[in-house]
Amino acid sequence: MSDEAEVWTRNKELEQQVRKVAREHEEFAHLRGRLKIAVVFKPKAGKKGMEIANTRAASELICALLEPHEALHYVITIGADAWAILDEDQRAFVLRHEMRHCIGTDPETGKVLVRHHDAEVFFEDLADGLSMTTIKTIVAKARALKVDDRQLRLLESVAEEEAANG
Ligand SMILES: [Zn+2]
Repeated sequence: MSDEAEVWTRNKELEQQVRKVAREHEEFAHLRGRLKIAVVFKPKAGKKGMEIANTRAASELICALLEPHEALHYVITIGADAWAILDEDQRAFVLRHEMRHCIGTDPETGKVLVRHHDAEVFFEDLADGLSMTTIKTIVAKARALKVDDRQLRLLESVAEEEAANG
């Protein structure tokens, strides 16, 4: 694990875990075999308006650098400092959340599509068995690192609303 990474590092172990999650969870069936996801650690999670982790479509430049001989579709970037203080369950949740942004390619243009943050992603997070306690723990850990995580704040408010509505 790249917990103490001081430089940006690709993590093939986590890429394997992403493939395993795709194999084991029906909601990620569309990712199996077809869509390749790279996982890269950066030393620190974003400090302002950023996230513990984020997912983007792999640019041509990134593809050329990371995977010149085969198609690469997405890159998940994770702050190693935040990752280091999450436990296994919280890490697994963060990974599945990032995978929910990977929805496939446009059938006409072949363009790689990234689903942006909407309440729907968070409802899926909650349906995933994510508990309020886990959310609050991850939020607290992010705050301790002074990471102002917009998506966590949103997730927290969606979860609170859900809880209030029974
Ligand atoms: Zn997200």
